[in-house]
Amino acid sequence: MNLSTLRELYKEPACSHNAAKKDAACPRPTPGKAAGGCSFDGAQITLVPITDAAHIVHGPAGCVGNTWNNRGALSSGPRMNRMAFTSDISNNDVVFGGEKKLYKAVREIIAKYSPPAVFVYQTCVTSMIGDDVNALCKAVREKTGTPVIPVDAPGFTGTKNFGNRLAGDALLRHVIGTAEPATPHPYNVNLIGEFNIAGELWGILPLLDRLDIRLICSLSGDARFGDIAKMHRADVNMMVCSRALLNVARRMKEKYGIPYFEGSFYGASNTGAALMKIARIIGNKALVSKAEALVNEETQRIAPELKSLKERLAGKKALLYTGGVKSWSIVGALQELGMKVIATGTKKSTEEDKARIKELMGDETVMISEGAPRKLLQVFHESGADVMLAGGRNQYTALKARIPFVDVNQERHTPYTGYDGHVRFGEAVAGAIESPALAIARRPCPFGEI
Ligand code: SF4
Repeated sequence: MNLSTLRELYKEPACSHNAAKKDAACPRPTPGKAAGGCSFDGAQITLVPITDAAHIVHGPAGCVGNTWNNRGALSSGPRMNRMAFTSDISNNDVVFGGEKKLYKAVREIIAKYSPPAVFVYQTCVTSMIGDDVNALCKAVREKTGTPVIPVDAPGFTGTKNFGNRLAGDALLRHVIGTAEPATPHPYNVNLIGEFNIAGELWGILPLLDRLDIRLICSLSGDARFGDIAKMHRADVNMMVCSRALLNVARRMKEKYGIPYFEGSFYGASNTGAALMKIARIIGNKALVSKAEALVNEETQRIAPELKSLKERLAGKKALLYTGGVKSWSIVGALQELGMKVIATGTKKSTEEDKARIKELMGDETVMISEGAPRKLLQVFHESGADVMLAGGRNQYTALKARIPFVDVNQERHTPYTGYDGHVRFGEAVAGAIESPALAIARRPCPFGEI
């Protein structure tokens, strides 16, 4: 990738974080940080959920191990994306170049699996030896007719979040706007930054269906390559998670005039607000009335379940340690259940996310930017919290400390979006606090100290 393109992406103007800190990518890479999730990793997280495409990593086989595979992004059909392809660069290729090997591998994948497209990921090693992935992709496309998309996101360019942005850039350059929907439809929406974790998209689709709103594409959970190509025909883009793909929404607004907003489907209020916003931006009065009716109906439908959950959770306190959009939207979902959120994590949150947290939790808010286990447990015990909500890797901290825990990040197996998802979320939180296993685990060891 040339330097001017990189600079442009580092300075994404729609990102408030970049506006506040001039010339800094969001967040700025720091030495040693890439090991925890490099740009290549971020690009994969964004693009590999495109389920019908083939994804090949041009680099040493070790880079493939750095993948998104522990994420619970589900597919309603194709599972081509679950095949892990690599050009498997070795010593000789580092000396003589790996392009021939990659060319052969991509041709083989196309011949054997006939995918609608192949994504080719550049990595540190192949970028440093100068392999021209862009030219190679163009050559294979001309030869085979299959779209071959270069993803120029070697790990050293920055962090995981920056990799999301680079992936968005690849889609804007090579995919979005290259095909037309088969039929016209009055209301069309794209969800950007929805990864269908544990099937969360499927909690949203029935709501859109009832409003007769067509989802052109969910970028990129349960996405199909052909749908991404048609994204430019949407009436509105909703940014669902992490403003790392903000460049896609901003450039689609500039190029195709599609308005965008950031919303969430976690919690009944957030879900209702998101549906209303989509309807209002589309601007059809009948649609707005229909959305109002749907929101009222759904709110009333789950009211009895929420009432009983509120009784179970009354006065309980939660420690939330997550990132991005979840840092504020799950705060709202917990407050709707009658709980007090005593602290929230802000490691991957943008300035807007932080402003929303303050709005919801007040100025006394405890924001945890670095969640070392010792720090999390200290805040938990000092505040008298009843449950910790965090990512999968924190569950061992909670297990060892014998405190209730709910996984709210990408490895989880339970979907929490939409109205039914909100009830499921409440059940998970109440179930964790009331779990009888905790009382057993907290009993003194019958054999004495070991
Ligand atoms: S792309 Fe670079 S930083 Fe990322 S896993 Fe491969 S070698 Fe490591």
